[in-house]
Amino acid sequence: MNSFIEQSNFFEGNNPEELAKTYGTPLYVYNEKILRARMDAVAKVITKYPYTANYSVKANTNIHILKLALEEGNNCDAMSAGEIQMLLKAGFPKERIFFVPNNVSEEEMQFAIDHGIMTSCDSLAQLELYGSLNKGGKVAVRINPGVGAGHHEKVITGGKKTKFGISEEFIPQIFEIAAKYNLTIAGINQHIGSLFMDPQPYLDAVTNILRIALQFKDLEFIDFGGGYGIPYHKLDDEAVFPMEDFKKRLEPILDDFVAKYGRAPLFKSEPGRFCVAEGSVILGRVHAVKHNNGKTFAGTDIGMNVLVRPSMYDSWHDIEVIREGKVVSRDSLMEQTVTGNICESGDLLAKDRPLPEMKRGDLACVLDTGAYGWSMCSTYNSRPRPAEVLICKDGSVKVIRRRETIDDLMRLF
Ligand SMILES: *Cc1c(COP(=O)(O)O)cnc(C)c1O
Repeated sequence: MNSFIEQSNFFEGNNPEELAKTYGTPLYVYNEKILRARMDAVAKVITKYPYTANYSVKANTNIHILKLALEEGNNCDAMSAGEIQMLLKAGFPKERIFFVPNNVSEEEMQFAIDHGIMTSCDSLAQLELYGSLNKGGKVAVRINPGVGAGHHEKVITGGKKTKFGISEEFIPQIFEIAAKYNLTIAGINQHIGSLFMDPQPYLDAVTNILRIALQFKDLEFIDFGGGYGIPYHKLDDEAVFPMEDFKKRLEPILDDFVAKYGRAPLFKSEPGRFCVAEGSVILGRVHAVKHNNGKTFAGTDIGMNVLVRPSMYDSWHDIEVIREGKVVSRDSLMEQTVTGNICESGDLLAKDRPLPEMKRGDLACVLDTGAYGWSMCSTYNSRPRPAEVLICKDGSVKVIRRRETIDDLMRLF
């Protein structure tokens, strides 16, 4: 595809150069239609049995985006007391929030209990703590599925080498702790990892947790985890996650379980990236182009403080070049390395990437930045964090987070 932003009409008729001039760069730009479509799609993964998609809000906690998830019928997963507070503020009732933390303090666990929020315990130690704080309560446990999947070692969260969940061999101890504190194990959950495009490892993990679930009698819900991928190489025509095929293959696995268990508990999944990644781009300005030892560097204001995924996980983000408000054609490409403005040699957005030749004053438009984008921003090099704008369904533009200022940073001293 020559241009995703043209094909999807991402800016809904707004001129990206005008957006950059009005709101400054770097700028996160979101598209409401795309966000809503993805949130709606995950809400319909299972239709035959009771089901909710719990949007994993660590991917993007902008309160205005949480409100979209609320309206699209998603429930939410929170990883911290802070995320719970964001969700309550966005209007989520406590019943629609699931707390899936790891290694939390007594205070943080107590916060969830005080707010009546279902909590999953990630270890026997945390289950002990929960029991001591909330005797007679209802709780969930996170199972380590023994297998993992994902795009990078750092995002594989299931399997024998990862820190997450309780391994199957400790299930007898789960029951012992539950008995000691009169706890009901109302749910089990898992998460194998992030960004898989092939459904098979996930389906295997579903089969596995359903086998384990047969040992738990009082389950109100079983949560299969998130991780559905999105095509980060869309300009090279990478295929989307095969959602329809996935749904078809999932159903008989659920049928089999429901027959054995005798009833259908609530099934859940926890997608983060799938809901929000493709609904955002970053607009950044090219400030300097240089040639060092035969290499061409395009220097932008999209540093690793603005988007850390390429530096942190070697992640690929497609980049489109915009000149005077128009996408530059990809008919003629030349190898360039796109960097930010941070004093680190690892501050690279794209390495030796064939792109239309970039010139000072162009805009670099980085695709698929809605997940783990702003939520992982930092103020490294004392650079305030960027603004976020939402292109609404009717094409109007709404600032959904103002740009941080140096005064905001100074206020903490
Ligand atoms: C991060 C996370 C998710 C979401 O992962 P995605 O790859 O964004 O879908 C779901 N569940 C848990 C427990 C997570 O930590």
